[in-house]
Amino acid sequence: MLYFDHNATTPVAPEVADAMDVALRQVFGNPSSTHRAGQHARQSVENARRSIASFLRVTPAEVVFTSGGTESNNLAIFGLMRNLPGDRKHAVTTVIEHPAALEPFRQLEREGVDVTYLGADAAGLVNVKELERHLRPETVMVSVMHANNETGAIQPIAEIAALVHRLRGAGQSIYFHSDGVQAVGKIEAPAQPGPDLYSASAHKVYAPKGTGILAVRKGVPLHGIQLGGRHERERRAGTENVPGIMGLARALELCATDDPHHVASLRDRFETQVLSALDEVDLNGSPANRLANTSNLLFRGVSGEALLIALDVQGMAVSTGAACSSGAVEPSHVLLAMGRTREEAKSSVRFSFGRYNSEQEVDQVAGAVIASVRRLRATRKAPAREAQLV
Ligand SMILES: *Cc1c(COP(=O)(O)O)cnc(C)c1O
Repeated sequence: MLYFDHNATTPVAPEVADAMDVALRQVFGNPSSTHRAGQHARQSVENARRSIASFLRVTPAEVVFTSGGTESNNLAIFGLMRNLPGDRKHAVTTVIEHPAALEPFRQLEREGVDVTYLGADAAGLVNVKELERHLRPETVMVSVMHANNETGAIQPIAEIAALVHRLRGAGQSIYFHSDGVQAVGKIEAPAQPGPDLYSASAHKVYAPKGTGILAVRKGVPLHGIQLGGRHERERRAGTENVPGIMGLARALELCATDDPHHVASLRDRFETQVLSALDEVDLNGSPANRLANTSNLLFRGVSGEALLIALDVQGMAVSTGAACSSGAVEPSHVLLAMGRTREEAKSSVRFSFGRYNSEQEVDQVAGAVIASVRRLRATRKAPAREAQLV
């Protein structure tokens, strides 16, 4: 299987599997236990926390371990919004967020919170000036993702953070959350002062599914939404996923030593081949301001789903839109927000490259895409011509 769907999930790095093998076999204590086995586990978790904190440019006390990106977003959004006072609370987010942020905000609307959903431009970017125009005295939360999972578009979160920090300096109780799940490990962690809340997920950075992080800056009034023991400084109850946390720490160490040009050169090699061989192919999003690993292409006159299946039959994994919504043939909400028609959105396919892909694999998928698109276009035209003759 040739794998080009790294924005959906990544294979586990062998070094991560090794670290977790040790964890699973030797570090079984409950970190909350007083005895030696417990203290060994506690030490392992705290070593991992320190290493992860330094990678994310926050302090260890600001790292909260969760079960993944979805829980981190839920904790950030509900844990902040439900804890802030006021009966006319307002939040600003965007229509291009992952469902793990969109659905919590939709739930808050049902609970009486006023939510503004900003759009995106044709490049898939959120406009900070527009965001600023929608801020009100009662706005308590802004949530804008760092990098989009479908297009790779990198949002101006440093400017948004500066804006929110300025308002807070002027006395407004307002906090900035950013879903960093796609950005972590691919681009630099936000410089401080960055987002007040920042989500990450292990399985997008070559560690297994089921572990995540919410970085919560000091002083952010977040309350846990899952209640129980006093774990994670009372921000997330539940016995820590010790092997998952140790694996995630190892995974981020590896990301820190990744050569950033590797996936960029693979992605560019792929796009050059496909765009020079085929007509009527457009890039979704802007060539700049996007993750180096992501290529979202619109193949006019081709069903994205049919292309995905044609490539799958040849042992190659790609994606149409978000993995979470595939199965349903709904067009991508992100591409629609960028002004694509339903037809165009349904003709789009996302290729997301990763650490273990090679030039040879890229040449194979580019060749398969070119041949498959030609074939799909030909078979699509044929019945139409017959229909005309009849
Ligand atoms: C994958 C993803 C999530 C969800 O993370 P899980 O760990 O799978 O729950 C959230 N946001 C973005 C942008 C993602 O790509």
